[in-house]
Amino acid sequence: MRRLPIFFVLDVSESMAGEPLMRLHKAMESIVEQLRQDPNALETVYISVIAFAGRAGMVVPLVELMSFYPPRLPLGGGTALGEALDELMVRIEVDVKKTTPNQRGDWEPIVYLLTDGRPTDRTADAIRRWRKTFSSRAHLIAVTLGKGADTRILKQLTDDVLMLEEEGGEELARFAQWVTASVAAQSQALDAGRAAPGISLAKAGDAGITLVKPGDESTPQDDQVVVLTGRCSRNRKPYLLKYQALAMPDVLGNFGGTSPTGIYGLEGCYGLEEDYFDWTAQRTAPATPVSTDQLEGVAPCPHCGAATTFALGGCDHLMCCDGPGEQTCPWCDAAVNFGPGSNDAFDVGRGLG
Ligand SMILES: [Zn+2]
Ligand SMILES: [Zn+2]
Repeated sequence: MRRLPIFFVLDVSESMAGEPLMRLHKAMESIVEQLRQDPNALETVYISVIAFAGRAGMVVPLVELMSFYPPRLPLGGGTALGEALDELMVRIEVDVKKTTPNQRGDWEPIVYLLTDGRPTDRTADAIRRWRKTFSSRAHLIAVTLGKGADTRILKQLTDDVLMLEEEGGEELARFAQWVTASVAAQSQALDAGRAAPGISLAKAGDAGITLVKPGDESTPQDDQVVVLTGRCSRNRKPYLLKYQALAMPDVLGNFGGTSPTGIYGLEGCYGLEEDYFDWTAQRTAPATPVSTDQLEGVAPCPHCGAATTFALGGCDHLMCCDGPGEQTCPWCDAAVNFGPGSNDAFDVGRGLG
């Protein structure tokens, strides 16, 4: 049986924290659930998941559809697209069987690369290598999530770039349906020995997904998200505070414009696992600091429920705090004495997004 390998290369950078990551997980679930209803797909489709934030790595090795379960997606700081492509090329080299005089190899793999940001690592070498050696052996479809993605870089990588712009996740759901339908059609044709139709992006257009045409490349919006990490003072587990840029109201007083106010409103505070630090790039340069003056809203600790996640230990790391008194900093173990509260602004390091 010749296999049809599908690789999902998923951006799990900090800006995906919360809703976007949940939606991505749901989209994976719905693709798998629906493909499993298809006997042809069950026989031919194999799935692998590669994730990337500041680091890239394989999360699920290439397995048959029946044994595939959408994994818990990690989260990290940074968007190492170059490293993700390197990892993808290694996986294709190692996991996809080539046709030789003695064996019929796998079908041409399909790669869905989903990203919401701009690369934070060097991508030029990886893109060149992909175009030269891999673009004829695999079909890569790049998909942008939201307005912060860099379509120009993706266009260097592949002609097939789709844009999911809308908030709320309906587009991602439509995208999942399109993936399911096109993979099912491909596996049916291959199974019947017909010429495979290939993955047609025209159909994605019919499904209401925007195709980025040459010249459509848009400049990504800057600095939409500020993310800060802290640790729970009780169980030491990390958490992530996510703030979204607030737009200036337009002349009619409506919000939703694009000119930034330089103020960020709290979107949420999410519990992290310790592997967050494994998926985060070591910072080579200090991140642009943002003052607490620019941040609006505090959140309770997702781990212990303490009133604020915005207390500062002596080592300048954030920790949760439930009121005045002496506590131990979960980062450095030093004693910190919290007074009745001061509103002095201080600078905090911000994530890479
Ligand atoms: Zn806590
Ligand atoms: Zn400390």
